[in-house]
Formats: sequence, C-alpha cells, structure tokens
Amino acid sequence: MKKNTIAIQSPFPHRDAYGAIAMPVYHTDAYEFDNATVMADAFCGRINEPDYSRITNPTVINFEERVKMLTGARDVVAVNSGMAAISNTLMCLAAAGKNIVTSRHLFGNTYALISKTLARFGVECRAVDLLDLEQVKAAIDENTCCLYFEIMTNPQLEVADTRALSTIAHSHGVPVVADTTVIPFTEFNSHELGVDIEVVSSTKYISGGATTVGGLIIDYGTVENFKDVMRRDILMNLGAYMTPHVAYMQTLGLENLNARYTLQSRNTLELATRLRTLKAIKSVNYVGFEDNPFHEISVSQYGKTAGAMMTIDLENEQACFDFLNKLKLVKRATNLFDNKTLAIHPASTIFGPFTAQQRAEMDILDTTIRLSVGLEDVDDIFEDIKQALE
Ligand SMILES: *Cc1c(COP(=O)(O)O)cnc(C)c1O
Repeated sequence: MKKNTIAIQSPFPHRDAYGAIAMPVYHTDAYEFDNATVMADAFCGRINEPDYSRITNPTVINFEERVKMLTGARDVVAVNSGMAAISNTLMCLAAAGKNIVTSRHLFGNTYALISKTLARFGVECRAVDLLDLEQVKAAIDENTCCLYFEIMTNPQLEVADTRALSTIAHSHGVPVVADTTVIPFTEFNSHELGVDIEVVSSTKYISGGATTVGGLIIDYGTVENFKDVMRRDILMNLGAYMTPHVAYMQTLGLENLNARYTLQSRNTLELATRLRTLKAIKSVNYVGFEDNPFHEISVSQYGKTAGAMMTIDLENEQACFDFLNKLKLVKRATNLFDNKTLAIHPASTIFGPFTAQQRAEMDILDTTIRLSVGLEDVDDIFEDIKQALE
C-alpha cells in the first residue's frame, strides 16, 4: 500500500470490541488478566499484552504501529514530547565516560540537554561543524556513543551530508541518531541515508494543527540491544510514555499529515518567493529556493519539498520587535508547523537564556525572524507581513 493509504487504513493490532472505526481512547491505567500465568507472561514480556499504561496502552500502540508501517522501522516508541524522545534515546546510548559527537547548530533544549544535563552524568558533548567532515572524523573516538544531528538546523537552515556523516560514523561502529522533525518522515527514508535511530517532535507536523505535545523514537533495528534497553529499561524507568488521549489526537494528525504538508510546503515556497520582493527584508532564507546553497543536497536526501520553516532578516533587533508587534494575522508564538502562521525572534526567546557569545557561536543573529507558514491563503499572510514592515 502507498503511504497515504497506510496513514489512514492500517488495521488496529486488536479488532475493537464494538468495531469502532477510530481507535478508541483507552483511558485506563491497568489491565485485568484471566489468570496468574498470563499475568506473569505479560509482565515478563513473553506475551504482548498491556499491563500498565506507563509501559503500554492500546491507543498508543496503535499510533506506534502506524508510524512503524509508514517508516518500515523495527520498533517505534511514542513518548510525551520531542525532548523526551531525544533524552530517552540518548540515555539509552550514553554512559559515564562516553561522548556524543554533535553539531554546533542544535535546537536550544537539545544543546542544553547534551552540554549541561548529560554532562552532569559524565557524558561529554563534542559540538563540531558538520559541514567539515574532517572535524567530524577527528571528534569521533572509541568512547563515542553516537553521532547526533538535525537534518535541517533550526533556525540556521543548514543541511549536512547525511550519507557522508553516516558513513564516517559507521566506519567507527558509532550509531547515527537524527532529529527529523522539520521534514515529515513520510517524505523520505532516513534509514536509506544511514540513520539508525530517528527522533521526532510529533508536536510539530504530526499533532495536526498543534493539538498536543509528543515525541517519537523510530528504531530501524541496526543498533545492538537498543530495542530491549529502550523498552525494558529506559521507557519503564524514566516514565515518559505517551498518554492515550495524545496518541488519539496524533493518530488523527497522521491521517491528514500529507494533505496538510502538501499545502503548507507549497504555501511556504510561494510566500518566500513573494517576500524576496520586499525592500525592508534584507534576506529570505529558505532551502526550497533553487539558489539556496543547501537546495541540491536537501532535494537529494529529503525529496523535493523543503518544509514550512523559513527565516527573514531585518535591519536590526528593534526592526524585528517592531515587525512582530505590528502583525495582526500571523501569531507571535513559538512552535512549528501549526495550521496557523507563526513568527518568533529566536535570539531573544528560544536562545535568550544563552550568552551573546554562545549565540554567536551558534550563528543565532539578532536580525532574524523565524516564520512557520500555515494553511491560510498566501495572499493574506503576505499582506499581513507587508503591512507589519511598513
Ligand atoms: C520542537 C523541537 C524539538 C523539541 O520537541 P518538543 O516536542 O517541544 O519537546 C526538538 N527538535 C526540533 C528540531 C524541534 O523543532
């Protein structure tokens, strides 16, 4: 079956008692067993029956199974945020004395997780320039537990050569973990690019119009013991499993993901093209432009679309604040890939807690506004941006 069909028609793991067409929300903590033997088998993982909703829940399993069918992964674990997907994955791979080789361009919380939180447990952060493969080679050693990066960095919009990075990591026996949040996994096959574990903030495209916070750990089965340690140790002991209502909302989001993404990515290219004509905007950065330095590598790795995130640069910080304050339709908000168009000044918000020097090292500029383009008519989005620049 094609992905559009799988997203909608993949069968439930168990037929619903009433034949419900939408997977019901199993709002229950625990499950009753017919006898003590079955109960023991369930608790020890010899049979696949739910026992407790911190570990498994039918509504969440159904969501996980759909993502598994769409990606061809061996296992998918749904958790309660993108950060939970990232932290649980890294907790699964790292240990005291190990290092994580990663990019100097990272989502703010991910950078803080690796360089601060995990550092307290004796894990070293090695942030390098992923466009310089020699730096990556030099950073990897026998204590490297993974190579971690984002497929398109936010907000710099840098695209590294995923195949080349994976080849380097694998030649040292090092697993590759990629955050693929910014392009839906239905658009490309990250495992073919060499990714072993894919992490996704399902809060973004998948939740379906920004309904819920969630995360996915997509395991392609190429890292020894990952599934066992993840399911039987990390997931149980850290307690970040997705809740059933969220899984229900995100399953609905998955069903119409392609329809939304098709429109959203088309809107973004159209809007970016029009914004280039405005004098008040110093530059428009969008990987979908054919003259963008990362366009070619992005198309070859992630397909013809370039997502619904772009940035514009204005004269200075004051101009950015004035612009944000004058917006009427576009919302001043964080988040990405809502149905509504959103604008934010990353330097003073997401990266506000970092020092000016740290921001400079991460190429976070005071002049940049990040836009997440929604499903509204492009004419209206463009008019609002135009009037806010006057
Ligand atoms: C939003 C985001 C995250 C974190 O996800 P949450 O669901 O907010 O925890 C991680 N990586 C990227 C690229 C993101 O955009």
